[in-house]
Amino acid sequence: MCGIIGYIGEKVEENLLQGLERLEYRGYDSAGMTINRGGEFVTYKATGKVENLKKTLKFNDDLGMGIAHTRWATHGKICIENCHPHFSSNGNVALVHNGILENFEDLKAELSKEGKYFYGQTDSEVIAKCFDRLDIKSLRRVLGKLQGSYALALIAKDSDSIYFVKNKSPLYVGFDGSQAMVASDPSCFVGILTEYYTLEDGEYGRINKKEAVFYNKNNEKIEKYITKLDFKVSYEEKTGYDHFMIKEIYQSRIALENIIERYKQEEIINKLKLLKNYEFDRIYLVGCGTAYHAGLIGGYYLREAFNVDVFCEIASEFRYKNLNIDDKSLCIFISQSGETADTLSVLEFCKEKGGKIVSITNTEYSTIARLSDICFPICAGQEKAVASTKAYFAQCLIFYIITTFLKGKDYILPLQNFKRQIDFGDDNILKPLAKNLVKYDKVFFIGRGVDYITAKEASLKLKEITYIFSTAESSGELKHGVIALIDSSVPVIVIATDEKLFNKTLNNAYEIKSRGGKLILFTSLQIDKDIKENFDYVIEVKKTSKEFQSLQMILPLQKLAYFTAIEKGNNPDMPRNLAKSVTVE
Ligand code: GLU
Repeated sequence: MCGIIGYIGEKVEENLLQGLERLEYRGYDSAGMTINRGGEFVTYKATGKVENLKKTLKFNDDLGMGIAHTRWATHGKICIENCHPHFSSNGNVALVHNGILENFEDLKAELSKEGKYFYGQTDSEVIAKCFDRLDIKSLRRVLGKLQGSYALALIAKDSDSIYFVKNKSPLYVGFDGSQAMVASDPSCFVGILTEYYTLEDGEYGRINKKEAVFYNKNNEKIEKYITKLDFKVSYEEKTGYDHFMIKEIYQSRIALENIIERYKQEEIINKLKLLKNYEFDRIYLVGCGTAYHAGLIGGYYLREAFNVDVFCEIASEFRYKNLNIDDKSLCIFISQSGETADTLSVLEFCKEKGGKIVSITNTEYSTIARLSDICFPICAGQEKAVASTKAYFAQCLIFYIITTFLKGKDYILPLQNFKRQIDFGDDNILKPLAKNLVKYDKVFFIGRGVDYITAKEASLKLKEITYIFSTAESSGELKHGVIALIDSSVPVIVIATDEKLFNKTLNNAYEIKSRGGKLILFTSLQIDKDIKENFDYVIEVKKTSKEFQSLQMILPLQKLAYFTAIEKGNNPDMPRNLAKSVTVE
């Protein structure tokens, strides 16, 4: 998940730092930078966020080159020794790595026998120790030993180039005659370069201010197609808000507006038509975390509309299920970043089996988008807060559009109506509730039907950023086990948007109340006063048309998680142990 960057040009520290700030969503366990200053390496390292590294920099107005890294630790504890860049034994080569070296233990044992000393525990340091010098020949020799996922940027004291390699983790490179850059995400190029190359798995090479040399996995020199940096690569600022998360919750409305505009265009209509022409007898929806929950909502839409089997799967479990994938399988992958390693590996598996590959992503230049037969953009703009909000909202809307189009109906007018009705909930009610929730060390969510999916997503949001233990149960399942945990120390948030299911849900709520549990109702239904009196809190959420009610409901629940995190004194944008783009399996 780490972010890597390399830069050649002026103001090396400043440009690398800016890149790190843009890549920080990929991990913030530690950050480091190595500059080649006149043939000598100068290195800065700090644990924690990039701002800690910033305090150590000297900002020399120098011409030269450097590499930098923001880490999400996979191997080795979070400490200065394990902070990248890592170095060859003779100190001549420095390297930053995104990924996991799977055979690091074997390689480490081999290198130790040769007398090489390891100062830390990371897999990445083992790659660095495979080098003594840096040129294409030695890069090739080392690549032959590596197993796993790796995007690497390397520099040497005696070289004017940055060397790079990509295998499974993303990497982009660009140059313009006066500067050159390699980065995990092309948003680092914004304001610096106007075009860039996208590396494919197995490709490697070197870049300096004047030229880029590329090789493919068969060691053949190749020419690569250059991409113009366009509006699809964006960089968001926090302007006007305390945190990205709250800004992004409100940006759900903008995402909806963008979707309405983009999904009127011929480019998208043609994609929808292509999808309609596909013959399939099963649909697989695959994602992780919040994207998986968007898939569950997708399944809910698709099942209501079609008489085909729809399977919603967690990407990391997919391969253990022996599912029957063939050319009659429509496989839809949901990933905000388009780089989610678990999702990507299922996509590659399904592609090999002949499945039709469709993706729903926020990142149209991503690997998942590139490998798909059809990619539907979610048009949400860059999402920086680790806990996904507007992307979930937008992913669900795309499922609505796909289903409605396949049914042969208009989706624009219903979306426009929803846009007018959209409501984010009343802060004067949500904030006091958050103040109260913070006193508990566990919170349960329950719901039935689509409300159970909303309960899952709301519970995930709460635990991600508040660290309060939380779980979502289907209302009916509670009595089959989980109710054993209910006592007066447990608040239960009941979600109810479906008139037909309300009486059953209410019975389950009463079962909780009988056991002393605190009841908080989030509902869009008209409820009698005497029923409301059974609840400690009732949050009334604006009613909208049935197909959008669960999306309307998630907005105040996202805000509740946000306000609770603030009450706890947490930074909701950068929750502990998490990173935004999960590029390791
Ligand atoms: N495995 C490396 C480390 O732990 C890189 C981690 C990553 O890319 O997330 O430092």
